[in-house]
Amino acid sequence: MQNLTIGIDVGGTKIAGGIVTAKGRLLKSWVVPTKAHDGVKTSFLQVRRLIERLIAEAGGKHNLVGIGLCAPGTLDPKTGFVINAPNLPGWEHLKLAHELERIFSLPARVENDANAAGLAEVLFGAAVGHRNVFYVTVSTGIGTGIIIDRRIYHGSRGVAGEGGHVSIDYKSPYRCGCGTLGCIEALASGPAMVRRARVRLVQEYTTPSLLRTMSHGQMKLISPEMISEAARKGDAIAKSILDETGFYLGVWLGGMITLLDPSAVVMGGGVARIGKPLFSKIREAIRHYTLNPAMAAKIPILPAKLQENVGVYGAASLFLPAGETAERPL
Ligand SMILES: [Zn+2]
Repeated sequence: MQNLTIGIDVGGTKIAGGIVTAKGRLLKSWVVPTKAHDGVKTSFLQVRRLIERLIAEAGGKHNLVGIGLCAPGTLDPKTGFVINAPNLPGWEHLKLAHELERIFSLPARVENDANAAGLAEVLFGAAVGHRNVFYVTVSTGIGTGIIIDRRIYHGSRGVAGEGGHVSIDYKSPYRCGCGTLGCIEALASGPAMVRRARVRLVQEYTTPSLLRTMSHGQMKLISPEMISEAARKGDAIAKSILDETGFYLGVWLGGMITLLDPSAVVMGGGVARIGKPLFSKIREAIRHYTLNPAMAAKIPILPAKLQENVGVYGAASLFLPAGETAERPL
């Protein structure tokens, strides 16, 4: 079978790889835990071994169009450079696409993981049929991708689409990992929700809360899933943390919609899986924080569809449909 693409998703905790057909069918996939702290030599060797396995599984290089790789951080799709990837020690100033091409004699492309995921959702996932989409993934961080006319918008230096680091509160007590106060990532990501919950439990130490019993009094065990479950059971603190998260995301998304006028927003990641209670709060806030509320109300906010394989699809999407998203000459 020809026209297959290898997609590799390198994360701080796992490396996923798969073979994807030109029509977006995932034929085979593997996941290995990333030995991130053993340094770039070890983690790159893991990537190399995974690609070797996938080439063999695909029946040889002649069946492959190329190798796409995505990772969190700043990757320049034009030069194929990894500029930095914060969760992957040593992955910086790396001529990654060039190195993969040299080793495997196949075209290689690299991309930021949220950009790649956004493209995959447009080509094969929740936003099929849409051309202009804002993609958001809310989990340990907030990643975004701007897809315009079914292509990733990269900006002039390849680093556009970092919506998670747009601040909605310059007076916020919460400083983001990037150094700015009140980035949406510092307010509404999974760890941000947990942090706000802990603060509330300390401040309101006389108020009974299911979060205390569910975490057996150990605040470090509180997770976004636990907050969501406690809210579902009627816990007042958990519910207000969830509502606040929806509000922050809605304020921010209202701005993104004003700026981009997408035909759809796709939301993925663990926090987005909380679903309706969160999405309804987001919708409610958007109305008050966007320029054209009536138009914004018609924009669907779609739950992501590709789930845990989104990175593999995204990396493979860099070659699919053939050439459409090409940033580098073959
Ligand atoms: Zn930030």
